[in-house]
Amino acid sequence: MDKQQEYVLRSVEERDIRFIRLWFTDVLGILKSVAIAPAELENAFAEGIGFDGSAVEGLTRVYEADMIAKPDPASYQILPWRGERQGAARMFCDIYTPDGEPALSDPRQVLKRTLDKASEQGFSFYTHPEIEFYLFKQFETGQQPVPVDRAGYFDNVPRGTAHNFRREAITMLENMGISVEFSHHEAGPGQNEIDLRYADALTTADNIMTFRTVIKEVALEQGVFASFMPKPLFEAPGSGMHTHMSLFEGDRNAFHEAGAEMGLSVTARQFMAGLLKYAPEITAITNQYVNSYKRLWGGAEAPSYVCWGSNNRSALVRVPVHKPGKSQSARVEYRAMDSAANPYLAFSVLLAAGLKGIEDGLELPEGAEDDVWELSNAERRALGYEPLPTSLAEAIAEMERSELVAETLGERVFDFVLRNKRAEWEAYRAQVTPYELDTYLSVL
Ligand code: GLN
Ligand code: MG
Ligand code: MG
Ligand code: MG
Repeated sequence: MDKQQEYVLRSVEERDIRFIRLWFTDVLGILKSVAIAPAELENAFAEGIGFDGSAVEGLTRVYEADMIAKPDPASYQILPWRGERQGAARMFCDIYTPDGEPALSDPRQVLKRTLDKASEQGFSFYTHPEIEFYLFKQFETGQQPVPVDRAGYFDNVPRGTAHNFRREAITMLENMGISVEFSHHEAGPGQNEIDLRYADALTTADNIMTFRTVIKEVALEQGVFASFMPKPLFEAPGSGMHTHMSLFEGDRNAFHEAGAEMGLSVTARQFMAGLLKYAPEITAITNQYVNSYKRLWGGAEAPSYVCWGSNNRSALVRVPVHKPGKSQSARVEYRAMDSAANPYLAFSVLLAAGLKGIEDGLELPEGAEDDVWELSNAERRALGYEPLPTSLAEAIAEMERSELVAETLGERVFDFVLRNKRAEWEAYRAQVTPYELDTYLSVL
């Protein structure tokens, strides 16, 4: 048993922990949890805990159902909302097959594999997400969601729900070792944003999964309901998860070059060129639901066209200004991803796209200075700004042809996502919507 494992055992005993929850994530990005008693812990570290993986989306096929979850002691945290006494703690797990091989269908392993590839080229990958979500009054299924307030961007709502909410949520996140950099009311009524501090991509992905749980728990505690749905309200902005990225070589930010344009190195420019080139084919992963495309094509500062700009909120890739001398913070922001993406898979395809840009020495096209939504289609075409997929169906078609995505996800996850997403599209396509009834029924 190693030092970290010993620490966990000691803490469980000293802190009177009653249950240890073993967390992992299915292929769609939904958190799964199995609780074990403290007495099982030593065995869980040594051999893992067996479970039936066939009930978990994308994990296994029925005829090879047995899977092993092995907890990562570095991710041990006490769950603050379970109280001081007889509390609960959690650890993230890696999933293995019964013969001890990493499960090909475990999203955390997909990211680890992609990070290993980056590290073979000397890079470590850092990310920081801006996570947007809505707070609604509690409602019954079938009812229209009602936002908790009518405030807007950066509004300070005196004694508003959102204030208390963010305070509570951030305290809880920090108790769990997750640092928050920034939080504010967003543009939509009841919409909030919380930005997590920079960390290596695996930690960030784990943090995002924890974040979603914490936000939902705090909301319930306060009698409201939190949702990460990409576009819950037709008339208000959707919830994006803009992701800031950089590559480090040891302690040095490989995206920074003093004196260069925007302080960006050639490596950063090639990485960006890779993001732009592969954007359409990775969109089914960064924006994985039918509803994601209502956000991407609903205006309100969600990107719809493939282009980059510095300080241009209509661009897909943005270069935030960083102060000269602050070389560590040189980074690029990818603005398509939404708050319902599977962070492990999304970070994997973003990293793979960027690395391919570096590998192939891709040239970064001219930046976009205009508001690209204001241009005509002909102008956009002339400038080479391709549209992102306009629907899940288009995104699937792009992904199907993508060698980059197939290689990054591995055959298992690639096939599962395609099958799952085709089924989702077909179910959606078959619906007769209120919009159609309103528009056609009385007229036709
Ligand atoms: N909500 C917008 C989106 O969907 C982003 C708004 C902003 O942070 N500028 O991407
Ligand atoms: Mg922001
Ligand atoms: Mg925002
Ligand atoms: Mg942003």
